[in-house]
Amino acid sequence: MTKPAAKMHSSTPATIALREEILQFSRERMEMDPVPLDGPQTLEFLQKHASNSISEKGLGGHKALKLFEEVLAPACISIDHPGYLSFIPAAPTEAATLFDLVVSSTSIYGGSWLEGSGAVFAENEVLSWLAAEVGLPKSAGGVFVQGGSLGNLSALVTARHTAIEERKKNNKKLPKRWSIIASSESHSSLKAAARVMDIDVHIAKADADGRLTGKAVLKTASKIKDGLFAVVGTGGTTNFGIVDRLDEIAKAAKKLDIWFHVDGAYGLAAVLDPKRKHLFKGANKADSFIVDPHKWLFAPFDSCALVYRKPILAARAHTQHGEYLDTLTHSGEFNPSDYAYNLTRRPRGLPLWFSLATHGIGAYRTAIAENIDLAHKIADVIRNRSDLKLVREPELSIVVFEKEGWKLADYEKWSDRILKAGLGFVTPSSHNGRPNARFAIVNPRTDIKLLTQLVDSMSE
Ligand SMILES: *Cc1c(COP(=O)(O)O)cnc(C)c1O
Repeated sequence: MTKPAAKMHSSTPATIALREEILQFSRERMEMDPVPLDGPQTLEFLQKHASNSISEKGLGGHKALKLFEEVLAPACISIDHPGYLSFIPAAPTEAATLFDLVVSSTSIYGGSWLEGSGAVFAENEVLSWLAAEVGLPKSAGGVFVQGGSLGNLSALVTARHTAIEERKKNNKKLPKRWSIIASSESHSSLKAAARVMDIDVHIAKADADGRLTGKAVLKTASKIKDGLFAVVGTGGTTNFGIVDRLDEIAKAAKKLDIWFHVDGAYGLAAVLDPKRKHLFKGANKADSFIVDPHKWLFAPFDSCALVYRKPILAARAHTQHGEYLDTLTHSGEFNPSDYAYNLTRRPRGLPLWFSLATHGIGAYRTAIAENIDLAHKIADVIRNRSDLKLVREPELSIVVFEKEGWKLADYEKWSDRILKAGLGFVTPSSHNGRPNARFAIVNPRTDIKLLTQLVDSMSE
């Protein structure tokens, strides 16, 4: 006899039926090509159609799933739709998505070697491979964290902790304020991390192409009296996909004797394309880097690979100590939780591991190269239209352009129109106060026909 309390954890006729329904739902979602774009609903609509799902007795799985399928899911834009080109989309492979189901169904704890050694080993295989692609030594390592924001924060916490230890070792005074240098084009998460850490961010001005140079870093550094401990180079800016002069920044960091972090959340994936690898020259000098598999390595949310040249420095900064944890800490084994600001974690690197193991690295190189080639192709189309103008030449897979005479309201109207038509999702962006349209291309299912149709729809 199943104890009443364990019923919902067991195979009863109700849970078996639900299992089939859920798998069927997932199967159908994955078979859609393309998936419907869908779109946001108002709070009033959702209150009217989806309230009262949480009750003392429960709805039963069938009704709850219907509510999701018919009301809640269609109120979410499909990030993996080929016309989703806003922000940075996601386009997980089938293998990666399927394996996310496996990760959930196996309840693996990914925080410690003791509990999850097999999963941790596989995740570390992926991190080592990424480190090697970027040019870091075999001894490099790290952890998959929730996202790039947490990855940047964790890397900077490690950098500062290292700087503090270094000063203490040399009997040097600690500064009144700690600070980092970042580019005027760098991601908002760096300022957010700085607020959490209570440090200052000195902004070095990117050049006319939107790149941070070594010269700009040195110039900014010359005005800082004390407490500078890191510089962040961006491997593919979020706005334009421009790669900073990482080699120059690496040299500047060496000269200043500070930590060099590469924020490659979106763009560092392009190091896999042999034609673009040269853009990332100098990334191999990084003390740490991040790249988000949920952005351009075709993995589902949420996943950021955080890699350190010397992982031991991260463990010194991040390991949590406690009576019930010390059995893990003293084991000498590799515990992923020690390498970032996190403790409990799902082994979120496994969907990428499985997809890579399934398809091979070559398929990734091809998919990323095709995205970039497509960006350059639509840029050619835009360049040849008299009413359109590229804001900057694309470097990776982001294309930013203006339509002659359009104000923000025109971009907004167009954006609403194409979303409602289920054609695409392109929110207006801006540069130097001028509104524009921006395509961020990371989906291998996006093609030139769709992009041309979107461009054409601006004149309708
Ligand atoms: C997206 C992005 C981040 C933040 O990553 P999240 O996964 O959204 O937290 C940081 N840096 C860059 C360059 C990004 O493009």
